[in-house]
This record gives sequence, C-alpha cells and structure tokens, in this order.
Amino acid sequence: MTLHIEKTICLQHKTTNIMAKLRFDALKRLNEREKVEVKAPEGVVSNFFGENVFGSEQLRGTLAPAVYKKVSSAIKNHEKIDETTADAVAAAAKSWAMAKGATHFTHWFQPMTGGTAEKHDSFFDALAGIERFKGSELVQQEPDASSFPSGGIRSTFEARGYTAWDPTSPMFLYGKTLCIPTIFVSYTGETLDTKSPLLKALKAVDKSATRVAQFFDKDIQHVTASLGPEQEYFVVDEALFMARPDLVMAGKTVFGHAPARGQQLEDHYFGSIPSRVYTFMREFEIECWKLGIPVRTRHNEVAPSQFEVAPLFEEVNVANDHNQLMMDVMGRVAEKHKLKALFHEKPFAGLNGTGKHNNWSLITDTGVNLYAPSSSARDNLAFLTFFITTIKAVHEYADLLRASIATYGNDFRLGANEAPPAIVSVFIGTQMQNVLNEIEKSGNVKIEKGDNMYMKLGIDQIPEIILDATDRNRTSPFAFTGNKFEFRAVGGSDNCATAMTALNLIVAEQLDQFYDAVSKDIEGGTEKRLAIVKVLRKYITESKNVIFGGDGYSEDWVKEAEKRALGNVKNTPRALNAYTTKKSLELFEKHGVLSHKEVEARNEIRLESYIKKVQIDSRVMGDLAMNHIVPTAIAYQSKLINNANGLKGLSIENKAVVKTIEEISGHIETIKNGVREMIEERKRVNKISDTHKRAIAYCDDIKEKYFDKIRDSVDKLELLVDNEDWPLVKYRELLFLR
Ligand code: ADP
Ligand code: MG
Repeated sequence: MTLHIEKTICLQHKTTNIMAKLRFDALKRLNEREKVEVKAPEGVVSNFFGENVFGSEQLRGTLAPAVYKKVSSAIKNHEKIDETTADAVAAAAKSWAMAKGATHFTHWFQPMTGGTAEKHDSFFDALAGIERFKGSELVQQEPDASSFPSGGIRSTFEARGYTAWDPTSPMFLYGKTLCIPTIFVSYTGETLDTKSPLLKALKAVDKSATRVAQFFDKDIQHVTASLGPEQEYFVVDEALFMARPDLVMAGKTVFGHAPARGQQLEDHYFGSIPSRVYTFMREFEIECWKLGIPVRTRHNEVAPSQFEVAPLFEEVNVANDHNQLMMDVMGRVAEKHKLKALFHEKPFAGLNGTGKHNNWSLITDTGVNLYAPSSSARDNLAFLTFFITTIKAVHEYADLLRASIATYGNDFRLGANEAPPAIVSVFIGTQMQNVLNEIEKSGNVKIEKGDNMYMKLGIDQIPEIILDATDRNRTSPFAFTGNKFEFRAVGGSDNCATAMTALNLIVAEQLDQFYDAVSKDIEGGTEKRLAIVKVLRKYITESKNVIFGGDGYSEDWVKEAEKRALGNVKNTPRALNAYTTKKSLELFEKHGVLSHKEVEARNEIRLESYIKKVQIDSRVMGDLAMNHIVPTAIAYQSKLINNANGLKGLSIENKAVVKTIEEISGHIETIKNGVREMIEERKRVNKISDTHKRAIAYCDDIKEKYFDKIRDSVDKLELLVDNEDWPLVKYRELLFLR
C-alpha cells in the first residue's frame, strides 16, 4: 500500500489501526472499479469452440489413416501406443501447436496435493538448433518427484518418478504451452497422482458393466462412465480478499459475524447476476469454450455471491481434466476482473458451503444410457439392473464413498451445523421407490409360458413414471435424477478423480457379483430374465436401508440413520479408515486399481494434508486474534473506560457502558486463554509420531476444542467494537458484490 493511499484513508477515517485502514482502503477501491471489456471472438461459439484443443478431429486430420486408426483403437481398448505411432502424434501436435504460436510443451498432471502441476520444456533444442518434439518426450517426462507428496512411498522405493502420456484426454494449448495430460508414477511403478487410479477404475467398470450389459444386448462392446461436474464457487473482490489474511492464507474466513441479511431471504438463487460477475463469467466461458470445455449453464447459488457453472457431461477422465482446467481458467480470468474465485468448501460460516455435484452415468458404445428408463420393457430390465446394483454398491461401500470425499475443508460442509450430514444415503424419489417395492413384493409371482413378465412384475411402465417424476431432493448426498446419479457430497475444491475412482470401482465390483450370481442361476437352469429379477429382488431387500427420501439436513434423519446403523463419520481422519479395511484393500487390489501399499501411502498423504490444514487455520486464527482483534478490542475498551469515567464524573448513569466493558473483557479473556492453550496443544500434538493419531489429535484436541470457542468470542466482539476500528473486512462487505 502506498503512503499516498494511507494518507487519504487516515484523513477519511480517524482510526490508527493499520488493518482497519487496509479494510477501508479496499472498500474505497471497490467503488473505483472500472468495467473490464470482454473481447468475444467473431461469430458463434461453434466457430471457436475447441480451437485450442488437439483432439481426435485434429489427429484424424493430420495423421496418416493407418496411424490414426492405431491411436483411436489404443484409446478405446486402454492399450499402449507404440513408439513410431507416438512419434507421428508428437510431430503432428508440435506442428499444430507451433502454428498457433506455442513455444513450450509440458506434461500436465494431478499430484496428490490437489490442483495440477506442470514442468515446461521448450520445443527449441539448442544443440540441434531446431524446434523438436519427439514421441519419447510426448510419452514420458521426468519432473522431480521428490517435491511431491508420496506418503512414504519414496522412503521405501525409488525416489524419482515420471509422467506418462494419457492419450484418452486431448492435448490443449494454454497460453503458449502445449499441455499434455499425463499420469504421474514412481520409477518402481507406484502411482503418485489422482488420475492413474481413476483410469484403472474406469477400465474396471467398463469391463464389468459390459459383461452385465451383454445379458441384454450382445452388441455392446464397451461401457463408458460419464461425468458432468457442477461446480459451485464464491466470487469476492480482489482488494477485499487481500485485506483478509485468512482468505489469503487458508482460502476461507476463520472469523466473521453472519451478515444481517444472509441467505434467509432465499432471494439469491436464480436471482440476477451482479454485472461485474456477469462480465467475468462471460469471459470465463469464452476461455473455456476455446479449450473445448463445454460449459453450459451459469446461475446464482443459494448464498449471496455464490455461483455455479455446469458443463455438458463427458467421459469421466476428460470431464475431470476439464474441471481441473476450468478451475485454473477461472482463477486467471477472475484476476483480470479484479475478482477472486473461492472453491473452499466452507469459506463463510453460516452460509451455504461449496460442493461439486458429480452427475454420473454409464453409457454403452451402442449409445444407451444404462440409467435411463426406456419405452421398451426389455431395456427397462437393463435399466433396473444397473439402477439397483448401484444402490446395492452404495449400501455395501457407503463408508468408502464417505472416505472418498473426506477432506479437511469438506468436514466443515458435512456434518456441521447448517450442512448436509456425513451420512451416505441414496435418494430415488417416490416413483422409483414404488417400482422397487413392487418388484420386491411381486417376486413370488408365478410367471407362466406366454406371460408378459414385465407386466406381471409391474416394470413395463417405468418411462412414463419417471418422466412424470418431478420430485427433487437437494439434501441427499447421492441422488437419482431421472437418468443419472448425482454424487453431491464431493467438495468444491476437490479433484473429482478420488470420488469417481471409488464410485466406479464399487459399481464394477457389485456388477461382477451380480454377474456371477445370475450366471450361476442360469447354469442351474433358471431362465435368464428370472435369474436377473431374483438377484435384483435380493439386492432391494438387502440395500433398502440406504435409501432415504426425506430431509437429509434434519436432526430426525441423523437419529433415523443411527437406527438403521448407517455410518455418520464426521471427520476426515476417522473417515479415511474406510480405505484401509481388509474389504477395501482387497477391492482396490482385485480390480488392479491400487496396491495395499499405495492405498496406505495415499492415506498417509491425506492425513498429512489434513494436519497441515488444521495447523494453518489454527495459526491464522491465533495470529489474527492476538495481533489484530485483541489489540483493537482493548483500544476500543479504553475509549469506553474514558467514557464511563467521564459519565461518572458528571454523575450520569454509566451502567450500560460498564456492562459493555465487562463483556469485552470476557471475550478478550476467552480469546487469549483459548489461543494460548491451543498453541500449547499444538506443541504437544506435534510430538505424536503416528500420523493417524496425530491427525485425530489435531481434529479432537485443536479444531474441535478451540476453533468455535475462539471464533465465537471474536464474532461477538465484531458486534461490540466500533465499526470504524474493526480490522477485518466484514461478511456483508465481502458478500454483497454488485
Ligand atoms: P439438473 O438440473 O438435474 O442438475 P442438468 O440437466 O442441468 O440437471 O444436468 C446437470 C449436470 O448433469 C450437467 O453437467 C449435465 O451435463 C450432467 N448430466 C446430464 N446427463 C448426464 C448423464 N447421463 N451422465 C452424466 N452427467 C449427466
Ligand atoms: Mg444438480
């Protein structure tokens, strides 16, 4: 901040508090924001959609037909691409990128830290004096793995790792760099990223779902999982953001009293978008379109300054790469508009949190969405098979799904006061519930030769039923929405890969079990369709418990879920235990997704990350409270003391002032003691060598014990202290962007 600005502020505000000055300076800048012009490319979106993507169209256009055929078949069948083919692809990609002004290329990957990572190399080869890009460079690169978390793998295995091309996700041009989506593995083959297990889980679900789908249609050769992640986010002004050290350091506010007008009026959802944000969104969408990210809808979310962007669904791996890229694009475009996009799961206490709803389905290579009821009764049996098997999978592995979305940030969103609980349940709607009830009941119906089995089982009418279904349940963590499931519990800042790995893996496993059970009955002489219905009936009975249609946010549900013996694990360190049960370890190993060692290493990374995040929050809280809040409160209290004494001297009643002074004293006490004890606890807890135990201690003895307590007193002080002196940008200032 320049001296000049400080001076003007000092003139305007009598305060001597440096942070308060920063706050008022930021607020002043808000009024001086100029409109940013957005230059849209000429013509309609289809003219420039994907112009920065080297996708299958570009491959087909630039490669010899035989080479192209090799590449696309390798992609379809999850096979390796040989060296000569890779050379051809690299040469084509280089020419394409350089024609568009690219100077560098990078392997773009997703380490366990979250976010994406890259290491840029120039096309220019100084030795050869020319621009080059070899197949081997496309296929493999060596970033320094030792700087990325590997959860102890490094100490037992080779320290270095490499990135390897993922040909199933197209290369793209970002700025002047050709980005190549890659996986990240150690030299000894252990995966160090989120993409590799996802690719393996997708391969598993392809295999398992195809076998089952072939019960209904022999022509089906592949099943692809698709994902449409709806991304929620908050937008705040950059200057206000910079004036809140907690937002800068932790991505969230650690203090802040709820504004007088929060979301209780429910007027924000689908309300009109503030013009600054609207301009930002427009530019963001254009940039996404150029990168082939099919963003489609934009609207306000329930909380003030909260928004959502939803893309058209794509194959899971591509959709997830696009989601990761989209978050990056959003950050860059926001910067240009002097805004900050927040993805943290709970940036503001008392307001709606931020999620990433994962809309998911399975689609055959014959073009059938296996979760879409159809007008043909035969296809409906296929639909019911996948529908019921998925519910059964969620029932069997609810704890694993819970673990797959466990992060420190998400703990504030799940199971906290005004948030969905950490209970995994499935919402299917009353109509589908009736269908399931009918199947379960009518299982004993005798089906004679010549009978219409579908009619007798009451499953011939499903499409009409579903199309009529209008009931939506926004409170369910896992909801069936007509032709797809929506896994809503995924955190706003998370990488969808982790949740998608778990979901596709458990569905693959359940489909295998289904296949085996049905096959056995068929071998035993049962007619195929009857064998299928028999297993489905069993699944309905066994997984009923996990289906819930009521208000998932209510206290009643928490009690009811307890009666049903459903898990409700409220924090990450405990939720993560589900990864390392015998059942989970076997599941990951059986489908070749992760070895025991890898699962354990990953948990170690997650626990470490959890600990670091509690630590950061705790330090930010301590620093803000002791260095800014307490001194401000004391200064204000002194003013009040003068006032009280003055009143007394004039023999005027000063009880009210004295009471405020006492209140302030009380809060100062609580804060000081809280922070001091919390620091002592951190010192003690840091000595615990076992990572899991340390994470639990950070959760129970630091976060749970002190955060709310300290925060409560700070937020009370915010209401007591003179607005002119308050050091932190207030919620109402942050949130009501126009
Ligand atoms: P809703 O209003 O129910 O949330 P939308 O049609 O707006 O439904 O879809 C929300 C998201 O779900 C979008 O990203 C969309 O592309 C995605 N989606 C739609 N159908 C599917 C599907 N079959 N598989 C995966 N995602 C889907
Ligand atoms: Mg939705």
